[in-house]
Amino acid sequence: MTRKALLISPEICIGCRGCQTACKEWNQLDGVKTSNAGSFENPPDLIPALYNRIRYVEVPTEAEGQRWLFVSQRCMHCGDAGCMKICPAPGALYKTPEGAVAFSKEKCIGCKLCVTACPFDVPRYDKDGKISKCHLCSDRISQGLPPACAKVCPTGAIRYGERDDLIASAKKTGHEKVYGEMDLTGLGALYAFKDAPRLYGMNENPAIPESVIFWNNILKPLSYLGLGGAVALALIHYVAFGPKKNEEVTRDE
Ligand code: SF4
Ligand code: SF4
Ligand code: SF4
Repeated sequence: MTRKALLISPEICIGCRGCQTACKEWNQLDGVKTSNAGSFENPPDLIPALYNRIRYVEVPTEAEGQRWLFVSQRCMHCGDAGCMKICPAPGALYKTPEGAVAFSKEKCIGCKLCVTACPFDVPRYDKDGKISKCHLCSDRISQGLPPACAKVCPTGAIRYGERDDLIASAKKTGHEKVYGEMDLTGLGALYAFKDAPRLYGMNENPAIPESVIFWNNILKPLSYLGLGGAVALALIHYVAFGPKKNEEVTRDE
């Protein structure tokens, strides 16, 4: 099967948040009470019950006074996925035939290591401590259906299809550089930006931390073999989080 992807075109996004709502509905994610943080953006960050968030960026301009930029923030379905490299629980994170990075809550052990290895700060954890993130609607795409966010978008700002075709179509419309084309052996969420990606709050040079690569190559195989697995896990945790502190690193609602 050829690799599938999403092409996100912020230029034609109108910030309606239809994709945000459709994602919550399809994935049966709970409503969460939020409060005004001084922006139309809501909520102000990804949370366990929100896999796709529209980031609102207000850019002051001389001509218009202010410009709005909207962009979808979600899992990027990295070709070389840091979350999968560090995850010590077999099958908790896995690639689907379409190239999505999906997860199994049953197999997740709640160690919360994956967020430390993600160059995009994506994974969140539900009230049971299990991973929560966009899975590219793996249950829909396996049936030949588009992801809910792409299906509902009224402007075509989120499109789903063959990854190569999406890149070619973005280039045809004047986007010489497609964000995510080559990064981390290619992302499954591609962006056609006209402005600099950093203006949208995007990481321009995403990379997996060296420590994660080291542990993936050296210690994880040992833990799978059962040779000093507990020690390996403790060391991975130490590298990711540092020495144990009183305050736990969590990102629950
Ligand atoms: S964006 Fe983060 S969570 Fe998503 S596949 Fe890449 S490393 Fe994993
Ligand atoms: S692909 Fe599915 S899970 Fe991911 S953001 Fe879109 S609707 Fe949500
Ligand atoms: S549904 Fe489409 S236009 Fe509306 S916020 Fe999402 S990406 Fe933008």
